Amino acid sequence: MQVPAHFEYQRATSVEDAIALLERYGPESRIVAGGHSLIPMMKLRLAQPELLVDINGLADLGGISLAGDVLRIGAMVRHAELLASVTAGTHFPLLHDAERVIADPVVRNRGTVGGSVCQADPSEDLSAAFTALRATAVIEGSAGVRRVPMREFFHGPYQTAVGPAEVLVELQIPLSNSATLAGSSSAYLKVDRRAGDWAVAAAAAVLRIDRDSVVTEVGIGLTAVGARQFAAVEAEDFLRGRQLTGEHIAEAGDIAAQHCSPVADQRGPVDYKRHLAGELARRALHAAAARADLAIIGRL
Ligand SMILES: Cc1cc2nc3c(=O)[nH]c(=O)nc-3n(C[C@H](O)[C@H](O)[C@H](O)COP(=O)(O)OP(=O)(O)OC[C@H]3O[C@@H](n4cnc5c(N)ncnc54)[C@H](O)[C@@H]3O)c2cc1C
Repeated sequence: MQVPAHFEYQRATSVEDAIALLERYGPESRIVAGGHSLIPMMKLRLAQPELLVDINGLADLGGISLAGDVLRIGAMVRHAELLASVTAGTHFPLLHDAERVIADPVVRNRGTVGGSVCQADPSEDLSAAFTALRATAVIEGSAGVRRVPMREFFHGPYQTAVGPAEVLVELQIPLSNSATLAGSSSAYLKVDRRAGDWAVAAAAAVLRIDRDSVVTEVGIGLTAVGARQFAAVEAEDFLRGRQLTGEHIAEAGDIAAQHCSPVADQRGPVDYKRHLAGELARRALHAAAARADLAIIGRL
C-alpha cells in the first residue's frame, strides 16, 4: 500500500490565514483543495510537503456568479458544481462540454476548478478551456491581489504563476465571449481511450463573428498535445479577420496541428496526437459555429 511521507495539517480559517501559514512554513507547505491530484502524488512520494494547508472551509473561494462584465468562478468550485451551473453553461457551453468528460462523478464531486489549473498537468481539460475563453486568474498573497491572464498563467508542466505563498482565489471570464450574444459560442471536444480517462487530445473553441460572417474573436485551446500555454495562437491569428468558411476552419486546424508538440506515450504516438489536435480543433470550431447558428459559407 502506498502511503505519503509524514506531514503536518492545518485548516485555514480565511484566505489571509492560508497565506500566513504558507509564509510561515515556507516552500515545503502546500495548499490542499480537493486533493485528487496532490494526495496521489504524495502517496507516490512525487510530492512530500511538510505541511498541508486545507482551504476547503473557505466560503470566499466558492460560488459562480456574474459580476459586471465577467463570470467569476471561485477556486473551490467543484467540477460537479460547474457542471450543474446553468449560468456557466448558458454563457460558456464549452465549460459543460469539458466537465462532462472529466474523470467520473467521484472525482468531479471533490476535485476543484482551482486545483485543476494550479496542478497544470498538460492533460488537464479546464486549462485549455479557460485559455480559449481568455480567462483571468485572480491570485492573492501578502502583497495583495494580482490578476494574471490565463495565457501567462502556465509556466510549464506543473508550474504556474501562483507563488509558493499565494492562493488562487477565482477565475474571471469576460462576458464578451458569452454565448448569449449574437454570433458567439464555444465548444470543447475530447478523445479519450475510455469514458472518464485523461485526454489523448482535446480542443476548445470560442468564436465570435459579425454580420458579414467575419471572425472578430477566436480562442482555440489544446489539451495534452504540448501546445504552448494550452493555446493554438497561430491558428487563432489565421482565423481572426477572415470569413468563417469551411476552408478557413480546415486551414486553422492544420495550423493548430503544425504548431503543437505532442509526445508519444501509452495514449498514442506523436503523429496520431498531432492529427487529433488538428481534427478536434476543426470540429470544435464547427460545433461552436453550429451552436451560435452561424452559417459557415460553403459548408452548412
Ligand atoms: C482518477 C482521476 C481521473 C482524472 N481525470 C481527469 C480528466 O479526465 N481530466 C482532467 O482535467 N482532470 C482529471 N483528473 C484531475 C482532477 O480534475 C484534478 O485532480 C482535480 O480537479 C484537481 O483539483 P483538486 O481540487 O483535487 O486539487 P488538489 O489535488 O487539492 O491540488 C492540486 C494542486 O493545486 C494546488 N492548489 C489547489 N488549489 C489551489 C488554490 N486555490 N491556490 C493555489 N494552489 C492551489 C495544490 O497545492 C496542488 O499543488 C483526474 C483525477 C483523478 C484522481
